[in-house]
Amino acid sequence: MNDKVNVRMCFVCRNYLPKEKMLRITKNNGEAFLDKSLKSGGRGSYLCSAECLKKARKTKRINSLPGCSVSEEFLDKLESEFENG
Ligand SMILES: [Zn+2]
Repeated sequence: MNDKVNVRMCFVCRNYLPKEKMLRITKNNGEAFLDKSLKSGGRGSYLCSAECLKKARKTKRINSLPGCSVSEEFLDKLESEFENG
């Protein structure tokens, strides 16, 4: 793998993409948190697209993020992030 490009795996479709193109979701005090700086510590989960977000919502897969409570509000926020590019 080319290590000049920092790629991450989307937890829905399992494709690898440059992390700059993805949304990083981390945990903050037991709640899901959108890490826009891509710098907060701990484990992050990455989503590549609005499609994957929709899939994750439908299958409730997003609720399997370790130890996170994920609100509908948060998911709406993620969706608008993808829509706004
Ligand atoms: Zn994906």
